[in-house]
Amino acid sequence: MIDRIRSLQSPDQPFDDRRRAMVDTQIMTRGIHAPLVLEAMSKVPRHLFVGSDAVERAYYDMALDIGMGQTISQPYMVAVMTELLGLNSTLRVLEIGTGSGYQAAILAEIVREVCTIERIESHTERARHRLNDLGYTNVRFRTADGSVGWAEEAPFDRILITAAAPDIPQPLIEQLTDGGIAVAPVGARHTQQLLKLQKSGGDIVREFYVPCLFVPLIGQYGWQE
Ligand code: SAH
Repeated sequence: MIDRIRSLQSPDQPFDDRRRAMVDTQIMTRGIHAPLVLEAMSKVPRHLFVGSDAVERAYYDMALDIGMGQTISQPYMVAVMTELLGLNSTLRVLEIGTGSGYQAAILAEIVREVCTIERIESHTERARHRLNDLGYTNVRFRTADGSVGWAEEAPFDRILITAAAPDIPQPLIEQLTDGGIAVAPVGARHTQQLLKLQKSGGDIVREFYVPCLFVPLIGQYGWQE
């Protein structure tokens, strides 16, 4: 399979073909079928969200370094998280951990508005410019500790944390609408599981999915630096 993926991603191949191969061989074959997720991942040019030294690996089945010790998630993990959120075009989503801006672009393809928070200012600014250049007008950026959420913009229909936390921070649960869904990698600092939390009435329902490994959420309701 690895050989097949690599052979479909030779340096001579146009990025559009590599992206199609990524969706076919890494995402659909692993059981992601939500049409909106597949369409968004077929469209967003992932190679424009990585550094120039990583462009050739942009569509590989792996996370990649984006500088300052942070990573852009593996394409499959982006697809799983996006599918678990159960998105449609009417929703507003909060993302914690803008990073490269790739996940924000995937969300922005699907939903009405994305608010995204990043603690490292240079990442926020680079992501802001990328998304602006690509024509996204439905994304708001902020540099801050996202573990406390974004009270002025709350409530959110969906919240996605793309950094690992001990648990989903309480302020984020409070900033979810009734019926809202939050997805996050939770657990220990070096090994987590994807958690989907749904708020309905007074109840909170938690379901655990795949094991995963994310960089830590650093902040008041995350880990210490
Ligand atoms: N979603 C990103 C990848 C995220 S990597 C993408 O598509 O590229 C995790 C990011 O979370 C890192 O950029 C890190 O700086 C950021 N982060 C960590 N703790 C944070 C916090 N408390 N608030 C906001 N961002 C945080």
